[in-house]
Amino acid sequence: MTRNSNGGLPTPEEFQRQLQELMRQQLGGLRAGLARPQPGGSDGEGSGTEDSVPRFDKKPKEVKAYLDRFVIKQEEAKKVLSVALCDHYHHVRLALEGRDQPNYAKQNLILVGPTGVGKTYLIRSIADLIGVPFVKADATKFSETGYVGGDVEDLVRELFRRANSDVRRAQYGIIYIDEIDKIAAASNLAGRDVSGRGVQTNLLKLMEETDVPARSPNDIAGQLQAMMEFSARGRKPVDLINTKHILFIVSGAFTGLEKTVRKRLREATIGFAAKAATVETDFEVMAHAQTRDFIEYGFEPEFIGRLPVRVFCHPLAVEDLFTILKSSEGSIIRQYEQTFAAYGIEVLFQDEALRRIAELASEEQTGARGLMTVCERVFREFKFELPSTEVRRFVVTREVVDDPLGALAALLAESASEEQGMLRQIVGEFAARFQREHGLELRFTEGAVERLVRRAREKGQHVREVCAECFKDFQFGLKLVAGNTGQTVFAVDADAVEAPDKVLSEWVVASYRGTKPAPPAPPAPPAPTGEEPGGV
Ligand code: ADP
Repeated sequence: MTRNSNGGLPTPEEFQRQLQELMRQQLGGLRAGLARPQPGGSDGEGSGTEDSVPRFDKKPKEVKAYLDRFVIKQEEAKKVLSVALCDHYHHVRLALEGRDQPNYAKQNLILVGPTGVGKTYLIRSIADLIGVPFVKADATKFSETGYVGGDVEDLVRELFRRANSDVRRAQYGIIYIDEIDKIAAASNLAGRDVSGRGVQTNLLKLMEETDVPARSPNDIAGQLQAMMEFSARGRKPVDLINTKHILFIVSGAFTGLEKTVRKRLREATIGFAAKAATVETDFEVMAHAQTRDFIEYGFEPEFIGRLPVRVFCHPLAVEDLFTILKSSEGSIIRQYEQTFAAYGIEVLFQDEALRRIAELASEEQTGARGLMTVCERVFREFKFELPSTEVRRFVVTREVVDDPLGALAALLAESASEEQGMLRQIVGEFAARFQREHGLELRFTEGAVERLVRRAREKGQHVREVCAECFKDFQFGLKLVAGNTGQTVFAVDADAVEAPDKVLSEWVVASYRGTKPAPPAPPAPPAPTGEEPGGV
């Protein structure tokens, strides 16, 4: 990097110039400097073709029916959105066909509603349905100058990136800006250092019509990459994205807006005011918001004027949260089912459990987001423990939701005892076969069974294999013992499992002296399972 004439570090512009010079020398033949932007970015690779913009032919009812599959409640919002989106993309289609309506007012939207009630979900689902790129950002991350916070134009560049650097696709995408209420100028009164008005002005420019370079002038690396691409593939280094047909949707909770609306209503008609002041909830009152209320809230008239469609999303009640869990195609429950299924575990959610999750989620006051919080808390340990156990299915009851740790402990204990019982049976089968084949009875003590099971686990073998390996020579030795002493029933304890050869040879040696191995102990009196000894 060359220092500038004053001996200081070069400014970004000087640095960029130096880089361009270097590139020109290195790559030769490169068109001088960064190529001039081409309006509309209508040529060159990546600028897209007409085919890259989806042909939109849906009707509002079809869009709403699609949204119904995912988004529960918010009926009015789904209707208004469906109409606005259809209007917009039909207009886009006409524009693409060269039949642009000159006075068409873009259907940018304001979505009002508390957190977690489906605002983003609605827009994301619509973008998926239409097949256009979608970008979401929080208004709070922008600053007026773009130096401290982000630059609003970055939103358009992000859209370009999401459109796989296809200018044409990017030009018909959707930009969604959440927390727009935080850049209402009135917020400054609350002491927030947000240059709201400036950001509104910058956003207004985008919402009207402007050309945004696909690569930020401050992004030297991006510019460099563009030049490299050009030298490699003859691609034009700078594209411009026109924002005329980009749909802007802003949203926020607009806390306090209801006060402004209530005040206006009170001043309007006495009859209505009485109703609004007493019967309607804050949210219902907010749904009467008009342009002037938004202006009083702290928005510039021009800014709010560019957002003609107002959509109100309602808070979700327990029953709605339950329906989301039970019926929404995007329900988090499906996700949990899949997560467990990946480990071969089947989960069944009882309605009672879903209702309890909904109740707890509602207490979180974060809308449907609370469902994720509650599920995460309930299933955290299950997700950690179950994959390493023999549990293959479990039922989620209300009790599981209320006491996940207790329920997990019970499930693990039940599974362990079930498994132990099964393995005991396998050892019993081995003994039965041994008796059939050799006429000698092995009676395993509980300790022996435990030892066999543990060894199988340690060696990663089946219990059957461990038994066969452990007692492979027993028939020979025991036949000698039987010949010498007449004994045909033998107690196999943990020591015999631990050192089978040693124990067997001791028995054989003793039998030549006329001593029998210790016979199995008589059944212990209160032994309902008949396990100890010779329980298998
Ligand atoms: P916000 O209103 O804050 O934008 P989101 O749309 O991001 O909230 O909701 C968060 C998540 O909660 C969504 O991804 C979705 O899974 C779920 N969700 C929220 N509202 C609904 C709803 N009305 N119907 C179905 N799922 C919803």
